[in-house]
Amino acid sequence: MPKPTVAIVGRPNVGKSTIFNRIVGERISIVEDIPGVTRDRIYSSGEWLNQHFNLIDTGGIEISDAPFMTQIREQAEIAIDEADVIIFMTNGREGLTTADEEVAKILYRSKKPVVVAVNKVDNPDMRDTLYDFYALGFGEPIPISGSHGLGLGDLLDLVIANFPNKQEEEYDDDTIKFSLIGRPNVGKSSLVNALLGEERVIVSNIAGTTRDAIDTPYKYDGKEYVIIDTAGMRKKGKVYETTEKYSVLRALRAIERSDVVLVVIDGEEGIIEQDKKIAGYAHEAGRAIVIVVNKWDAVEKDDKTMKEFEQKIRDHFLFLDYAPIVFLSAKTKKRVHTLIPKIDMASENHAMRVVTTVLNDVITDAVAMNPTPTDKGQRLKIYYATQVAIKPPTFVIFVNEPELMHFSYKRFLENRIRDAFGFEGTPIKLIARPRK
Ligand code: GDP
Ligand code: GDP
Repeated sequence: MPKPTVAIVGRPNVGKSTIFNRIVGERISIVEDIPGVTRDRIYSSGEWLNQHFNLIDTGGIEISDAPFMTQIREQAEIAIDEADVIIFMTNGREGLTTADEEVAKILYRSKKPVVVAVNKVDNPDMRDTLYDFYALGFGEPIPISGSHGLGLGDLLDLVIANFPNKQEEEYDDDTIKFSLIGRPNVGKSSLVNALLGEERVIVSNIAGTTRDAIDTPYKYDGKEYVIIDTAGMRKKGKVYETTEKYSVLRALRAIERSDVVLVVIDGEEGIIEQDKKIAGYAHEAGRAIVIVVNKWDAVEKDDKTMKEFEQKIRDHFLFLDYAPIVFLSAKTKKRVHTLIPKIDMASENHAMRVVTTVLNDVITDAVAMNPTPTDKGQRLKIYYATQVAIKPPTFVIFVNEPELMHFSYKRFLENRIRDAFGFEGTPIKLIARPRK
């Protein structure tokens, strides 16, 4: 079930990021700091009355050197493109400004529902300031206070009331959804073309939905796949598309909708810091991962080159030790056919369930081999383990005291579980819980 997306727009300093942080709560950030930008996150998820949604702070997407008005116009365009519901945030202390009116003009042009929030209404006697904002023409403005956490419930009530009625299942359960992520020019579009160019291809689009404008159905060897957000790789010529934050946002949204993420690296250029960051998103999102080294045709090689490159990847992406690596060339199509079997495998393992008794045997053997750690005279006791989820496989381990489950011991157990069951291509999660 795809989650609806909410975007916050408004001019600088009205309190967008304050509200964003309030709504997403203390969730750990997956959008890392980008140098020169103080905000640390622009995309996360929130929940209200059991409704889950994605939240975008468009204020975090800055177009370098663009004048103020261009910035906020572009941000409003992003909200229209990406969101199901838009929160238009204003500042009750400053009243309605021309910049607000400018944002409103852009939002009128979309058919997306808009909810006006008037922030910084920190106490009830400020409510008079609200009346100006009716003039924006988006219905009743909701007074809120980001610093005091007031009015958020009313705001979110209205937001979820505007969610699209029916979020249809996007694709069949057995359709494997995958996306390609990587910095510009590593060859993502070329690789999609190389895949689609192979025999038994279907590139037909189901008319009438918004999704097919961005996804590409693909059939191979009798199996159905969907390449997520293919259009995100094509340039539509909008100004904001070239900003790094926006491409990160697109990548995060594609990752979220995928079962398997192909992390594409340029074999000719080698690995750079940005590759690591991008791969980190996929890992933290708990998706299955295949690392693709493209442009292998352009690499001068001998019989050791591939092994050496592989080692380099393992050294750089320590957290991705479970991801298979495929060397190929989108240009010559050499070894492109080896990619799909890896996607299949990663996807299967991502959805694998293990038998509880076998799991507990594996853990018992592991503990016998490497006794549990002690801390301040107390020893970790493991009572029982069970798999509580798939995609990614998630295990709860009931223990006497979760604090005693140190990182290194967790890592050891994870490795034993991997040795016993496979799980190549997928992250797995281990959660220690106190036994009641
Ligand atoms: P953004 O640029 O729209 O993301 O705005 P920020 O969230 O960074 O907030 C701008 C400033 O307004 C910060 O100094 C906040 O502490 C302050 N602020 C945010 N919400 C409120 C509020 O409800 N009341 C008051 N008085 N200040 C607020
Ligand atoms: P994207 O920005 O990641 O989608 O990258 P593109 O697919 O647009 O490719 C960027 C450039 O790399 C283009 O000039 C491609 O022709 C080139 N390229 C892509 N794949 C290969 C490859 O396998 N070998 C070589 N030598 N060049 C490639």
